[in-house]
Amino acid sequence: MELRNNNIKRLESETFDVLIIGGGINGAVSAAALTARGLRVALIDARDFAGFTSQQSSNLVWGGIKYMEGYEFGLVAGLCRARNELLRCFPSTVQEIRFLMTINKQFRFHPLIILASTWLYWLLGRAKTQTPRLLSSRQIKKLEPLINTYNSRAGVEYSDAFLHDNDARFVFNFVRSAMDQGCVAANYVESLNASRDANGDWITEVENKVDGRRFRLRSKILINAAGAFVDRHNQLTGIETEYRHMLSKGIHLMVPRISESRRVLAFFADDERMFFAIPMANRTCIGTTDTRVEDPVTAVTDEDREFVLSNINARLDLTSPLTTRDIIAERCGVRPLASRKAEDTGEAEIDFLQLSRKHVIEMDAAKKHISIFGGKLTDCLNVGDEVSDCVSRLGLTLKKIDKWYGEPDQHERETFFKRALDLGLDATIAKDTGEELSERLWRRYAGRAHAMLDAIEKDPSLREPLVENTGIRRCEIDYLAKHEMIVKLEDYLRRRSKVELLLSRDTLRQSAGLFEACEKLFGSDAKIRFDEYFSSTGGDDSE
Ligand SMILES: Cc1cc2nc3c(=O)[nH]c(=O)nc-3n(C[C@H](O)[C@H](O)[C@H](O)COP(=O)(O)OP(=O)(O)OC[C@H]3O[C@@H](n4cnc5c(N)ncnc54)[C@H](O)[C@@H]3O)c2cc1C
Repeated sequence: MELRNNNIKRLESETFDVLIIGGGINGAVSAAALTARGLRVALIDARDFAGFTSQQSSNLVWGGIKYMEGYEFGLVAGLCRARNELLRCFPSTVQEIRFLMTINKQFRFHPLIILASTWLYWLLGRAKTQTPRLLSSRQIKKLEPLINTYNSRAGVEYSDAFLHDNDARFVFNFVRSAMDQGCVAANYVESLNASRDANGDWITEVENKVDGRRFRLRSKILINAAGAFVDRHNQLTGIETEYRHMLSKGIHLMVPRISESRRVLAFFADDERMFFAIPMANRTCIGTTDTRVEDPVTAVTDEDREFVLSNINARLDLTSPLTTRDIIAERCGVRPLASRKAEDTGEAEIDFLQLSRKHVIEMDAAKKHISIFGGKLTDCLNVGDEVSDCVSRLGLTLKKIDKWYGEPDQHERETFFKRALDLGLDATIAKDTGEELSERLWRRYAGRAHAMLDAIEKDPSLREPLVENTGIRRCEIDYLAKHEMIVKLEDYLRRRSKVELLLSRDTLRQSAGLFEACEKLFGSDAKIRFDEYFSSTGGDDSE
């Protein structure tokens, strides 16, 4: 908690060029981009970083092939470009993956049309991935025997990308790199209101959710990156915008791994929307849904579960169909979709499934205020650059830099892996993912993983697992406690790692080593944090 306590003191006493409200992907990349360009940046989140929508995605980094049906070729080309840049700059985290799409006999398009679309998609992606191919039902069965091909006409295999770890970890790494460059960030700090003083500075009234204390934060510019809560915050501060959010709920169910292959299985659900079975470590993540909602705080309903389970069971040949008993964890979130207010006077008529998934950044130059609407993890680098451009148009001078994102260069990577090899890390295999410890540490912590090698060098026993069955090693925990601002056990199990998605709560509770991890993370508060986690329902109870 030392890092957080220090940052809170600084939030209270310093004046910032920019305050960013919301540490989801949009806020995190804004913080990283602006700090790298030399500004004094503060970042707060009412929950944990990535504690709302940005922890509930499908973990896909993709050009949005499905948007081609709405002829949004510009959007798709832009998203493919964004995907390619992420693939290039984060090779350990963002990785190409094959999608196997099975097409049913009754489907509205002939397989050859789908094949042509995937080729066009590939071209819009500048041919940076493996080429698509058409598969007969027999070939599908050979590749993935668990797919029920009884009603299938053909299939198409094509490429996109996914986040090897998970969305929340991806977001946190941007927050961490912003902090490394001087950003003052704190989780569990909520903006209650904000107004401008006589000098035109923004004074934001905030509450530290850990101890309930309130204080004020001063900045020249205010950026509202509160995701599904952007409109609510703009109402508080009297900001008028052309856009607003409409909300679409989506769920995923985590079940034991259904296929040994590292391939996304894509199907068209009964509502003709695409849905996926996505590999995640030794589990499969199945989803998603798209239901319009008004309230950002949502929960998985019986109907949602039934929809996902019945659709997947109908498309697979499993020895025993998946049931609610197979669900290890559930994920549920809302997509904030940008919608122009002028267009939605007739609410009921809007086909919100057709709303563009493109982000919109609105700037109020007179009030020095920026609102970020919509967006996707995939497009995050563009959000960082566009926000920087807006801030510069608001009169702040930004340093010219080559790049504000990406993994360390090849030389640093090679140095790390050479050291790891010498320390015998390649002989240590993580049980959950089957990968080498060196790979895992580099992917999760990049250049900061050197600190873990230093620790192992001093004490080789730190290579050993800390929490049974989770792949988490002893060498990580001191680093996590010092540098990753873990306030609650859930921050660690759900967002800094994805353990909570891979193991049921019962298994976790019994995991040898978990309480020891708590002691390292929370010191004398270990028991409180442990009990708090296991007595909560796991949903968002902050509203
Ligand atoms: C089911 C689903 C699947 C998806 N799949 C994909 C995918 O595969 N690929 C992809 O690219 N995108 C995907 N998305 C979209 C993507 O996840 C979201 O667009 C993105 O995460 C939104 O990020 P955000 O920063 O705008 O919002 P959030 O992540 O919600 O961040 C906003 C933050 O603001 C904080 N906040 C709110 N009010 C306040 C306040 N008053 N004070 C302080 N903090 C505040 C919140 O606590 C929250 O953490 C998916 C979304 C969903 C729901």
